[in-house]
Amino acid sequence: FESEMARLAQLNLVGEMAAGIAHEIRNPMTTIRGFLQLFRENDRHMQREYIPIMLEELDRANDIITEYLSLAKNKTSYQKSESLNRIIESLLPLIQAEAVMCGKHVNGNLGSCPDIQLDDKEIRQLILNMCMNGLEAMSVGGTLCIETYQDDTHVVLLIADEGTGISAEHLEKLGRPFFTTKDEGTGLGLAICYSIATRHQATIEVNSSSKGTTFMIRFPMQAV
Ligand code: ADP
Ligand code: MG
Repeated sequence: FESEMARLAQLNLVGEMAAGIAHEIRNPMTTIRGFLQLFRENDRHMQREYIPIMLEELDRANDIITEYLSLAKNKTSYQKSESLNRIIESLLPLIQAEAVMCGKHVNGNLGSCPDIQLDDKEIRQLILNMCMNGLEAMSVGGTLCIETYQDDTHVVLLIADEGTGISAEHLEKLGRPFFTTKDEGTGLGLAICYSIATRHQATIEVNSSSKGTTFMIRFPMQAV
């Protein structure tokens, strides 16, 4: 019975995702088609103006497909013994640059942690997705904190922002593919984070208030 439930839930998710991706890809296609139709009837000035938009729309459709593919369930994780702090240190300049561009700050507070089994590409993606969300949630002057520490059983990663927080209604939908409150959002960032965490036997906890949001990702020290 339980596996039947799991199968149904899975089918449901696949259907939801197919509907979501169809919708997301159809929007840019409609825009591009409209412009092409205009070009057939109109002058070159218009082309110069609209071709960049068409390229942007094509890139967007491409991004959605790329992100969607990285959600694939049977995707293999290439995990090896790695330092989480080393991965974060290599990403900090990138996150810092992104923050500076929008007038925000980043604070790294990395405690000593043992190496754990990590797929470095996946963990980079998880950290970047969460940090981008944190930066996007804050107004100018806000600080994003990235912290690591170890407890008895886990290496813990905290990503905390001083943003607007997440309402109870939205908390429930967090991590659902295509759930977004942003005009330009794909709604795939967190879904990818959750699937990466699952492949690492890690858990994600969210704490949110009107003062900000903290994501806590707990990696087991020994593979279970
Ligand atoms: P996207 O960023 O494309 O909208 P995500 O999957 O990354 O998609 O996030 C889904 C939604 O979750 C966001 O649109 C936003 O409403 C909410 N969210 C995620 N992280 C945060 C955060 N740190 N603070 C506030 N809201 C957040
Ligand atoms: Mg995002």
